Amino acid sequence: VAMKIKLAHFPFLKTLEQFDFAFQPSLNERQIRELATARFVANGENVLLLGPPGVGKTHLAIALGMAAIAQATSVYFTTVVDLIDLLRRDAKEDRLDHRLDTLCRPKLLILDEMGYFPLDRLAAQFLFQLVSRRYQRGSIILTSNKSYGDWGDIFADQVLAAAILDRLLHVSTTINIRGQSYRLREKRKAGVFSEFSEPPKEA
Ligand code: ADP
Ligand code: MG
Repeated sequence: VAMKIKLAHFPFLKTLEQFDFAFQPSLNERQIRELATARFVANGENVLLLGPPGVGKTHLAIALGMAAIAQATSVYFTTVVDLIDLLRRDAKEDRLDHRLDTLCRPKLLILDEMGYFPLDRLAAQFLFQLVSRRYQRGSIILTSNKSYGDWGDIFADQVLAAAILDRLLHVSTTINIRGQSYRLREKRKAGVFSEFSEPPKEA
């Protein structure tokens, strides 16, 4: 287990036990606990965690990854930005194919933070190749601050965006988190945001 956690490359370690479901009532705790059995990995299904910043998408993705590792599943975590950077370098050095194979090995791949940066045509092609290669072979957990309707803003190429979504969603569970940012909770309590509570007036 320790070796698998190391190989997973998590940015921080979080478990489901550390997740306060009471703070996020839009979440169906039973559904998350079902995902923690890692049956979705055995079935080659994907999970999409959608919601605004700070609502616990990365925490839940890692917690589900940890739960999968407890079921002897191999996991690899990367942000979309890091992944694209890596694949760009690999493509230049003529080892894209090899890297894509490597990225197909873990039974569960976690792609964090889709949508904070726009993806150009080449980035979309990389993502398409990865998603296609893993299609029906391994699971993906993807987190995004954008709903599907807004994915057009992320991708320069609408056809590729649709093709990627099509494969990701084919056998998948989407979890929409609608609550407030946990990060800002303490700050809000302390009144740090009170002066910003009114939207600024247009000049
Ligand atoms: P997101 O990825 O949606 O922006 P994170 O998962 O990074 O948000 O959550 C931000 C921080 O708040 C993390 O430290 C995370 O552990 C914590 N957090 C978020 N939601 C909860 C929650 N419901 N219970 C406990 N901690 C939470
Ligand atoms: Mg996050």
